[in-house]
Amino acid sequence: MSRFLIRNADIACFDDLSVSKNDILIEDGRFKKIVKKIETSECPGATVIDAHGMLAMPGFIDCHSHTYQTFIKGPLDDLVITDWLVRLFKFEDAMSEEDYYYATLLSCLSSLRFGTTTINEMGGWDHVDAILQAFEDAGVRCTFGISTTDVPENEVTPLVSVDEALKRTEAIYEKCHGRNHGLMRASVAPAGLPAVSAEMAKALKKYANEKGLIYHTHLGEGKMETENVAKAYGLKGEAEALDQLGLLDKHTLLAHSIWLSDEEIDLIAERGAIPVHCPNTNMKISDGIPKIAQMLKKGIPVAMGCDGEASSGTRDMVREGKAGSYLQKAITLDPTVMDAGTTFKMMTINGARALGYEDLGEIKEGNQADLVLVNMEDDFSLTDHDHRIGNLLYAGTGHAVDTVFVAGELRVRNKHIQNFDEQFILNKCNELIHKLNVRTGYVKED
Ligand SMILES: [Zn+2]
Repeated sequence: MSRFLIRNADIACFDDLSVSKNDILIEDGRFKKIVKKIETSECPGATVIDAHGMLAMPGFIDCHSHTYQTFIKGPLDDLVITDWLVRLFKFEDAMSEEDYYYATLLSCLSSLRFGTTTINEMGGWDHVDAILQAFEDAGVRCTFGISTTDVPENEVTPLVSVDEALKRTEAIYEKCHGRNHGLMRASVAPAGLPAVSAEMAKALKKYANEKGLIYHTHLGEGKMETENVAKAYGLKGEAEALDQLGLLDKHTLLAHSIWLSDEEIDLIAERGAIPVHCPNTNMKISDGIPKIAQMLKKGIPVAMGCDGEASSGTRDMVREGKAGSYLQKAITLDPTVMDAGTTFKMMTINGARALGYEDLGEIKEGNQADLVLVNMEDDFSLTDHDHRIGNLLYAGTGHAVDTVFVAGELRVRNKHIQNFDEQFILNKCNELIHKLNVRTGYVKED
């Protein structure tokens, strides 16, 4: 295990947007010591990094993602959801094992480059070994579940039986849980009630409870789909339906959570389930705007996610945070909601708790050392050293991230991914993406 001494880091406090200058010793994957001054004689052999002028933050936690979509963000632009889904499945079918490996790797490396150290993935079953290998090779922390559906949303929806969904979920647990020195964990991840029967949802929740896994699903994303679920269950909304099935509790993550009644928001608060806000997808797919400010007011620790790039167009959590904050200010006519400190907590500690980590999401002695150093001295838009946290969110992007550690291992330094030939990865991915576009008929051969 590596040992690092980080000198003069300005550690961000999200409560009052202050910073405090400290040295940080990272050892055995954890924050060993955080004090004003650490002598090199205290940590022989440590690699010293001078973080003077850099803002230190916990690694960002992306709580809802479909990483493989990195290869298909272009062809799905500007489509209504029915056409979007049909084209998505067409591209999924056309992707080879090599495509899945490199799409996942590219997405993970892109996330790391933007300071995301943990990804909560809702992935696919096809070529899953290659996908899991990409997560392991990237060295990112992840919670991985496969999306399963047994109710057709259209004629191309891939369906599986409840037994098969359980079999695949068990296989994921065996392949993934605890892998890569514990960086990888398994989850259950049924797509969402419009496409999942009550029987499948309950069976997967039972399995999750037995194994101590999170239940990761979509909730109230499309207006029409949500109304259909409510009608089918004879209830007022989809969250009520989840509750009736016994699925709403603090181990359940609810991606999007847009179409909810005020009563359902109260219900979610009471049960302790965690909505995951994915604002770029909500805007680009035109699904609507969730009542995040209201949820936060009720004490719900909402987390954030980049979703798949086919819908959000980005792996950058800073861009997500900014979009979410601006949207809430606009719909509530209240500029104080989803302030910068709250938004960064949603991107860090809320995500860590949602995924079941008690020792992640804060720069604290004893915690796992997932750390981001942000360089704000080489960017014209990030001037003003007195307001760096707010400026990063409102005026910046994840491109300002300079250095990233995952579990005490250096993954990004001087804005470059470590241990990978970046140009090779870019060339390879561009070549594969072009071939995929040609193969599916959306682009003519050269
Ligand atoms: Zn999603």
